[in-house]
Amino acid sequence: MTRRAFTASLASLFACSRSSAGTEPAVAFPGEADPAAIVKVAHTAEEWRARLDGEAFDVLREQGTEWAFSGRYWNNHDKGRFLCRGCGLALYESADKFDSGTGWPSFTRPTKPDRVRELRDVSHGMVRVEVRCARCDGHLGHVFDDGPPPTLQRHCINSASLVFLAG
Ligand SMILES: [Zn+2]
Repeated sequence: MTRRAFTASLASLFACSRSSAGTEPAVAFPGEADPAAIVKVAHTAEEWRARLDGEAFDVLREQGTEWAFSGRYWNNHDKGRFLCRGCGLALYESADKFDSGTGWPSFTRPTKPDRVRELRDVSHGMVRVEVRCARCDGHLGHVFDDGPPPTLQRHCINSASLVFLAG
């Protein structure tokens, strides 16, 4: 290997390690993570589209679902918090995350009950409980009754809806 080629490959190695270490995606409209009271925010579809990448827009604003085992966080076992990617509200804690084997981040409960709101969802020929961010109304995922103790609930959440904050 020539010196020049070696230098080039080193540069690409560092470039790769930087991107794989991963800067977290940006919160679209950053707000307080732990507000005393939740004040709803609303933005137009155009505003959301301008600040979210395609997959995050599809999930948060169009009720899309990412492919299993494809998201950033299904296999994240680090200690920290998961914020809403739309508005920065703290939604879930790593302490409540468990390995469901589904390929989506799974939690037994939200940070606080008022951080999410639940809606009946009858799309795709199923009756499910949809879960949305209580502040920006972004679609997060669904809640099922087959989780582990203490709640026996499984909040099955798209990684694309979240931003992880280590600590
Ligand atoms: Zn939100």
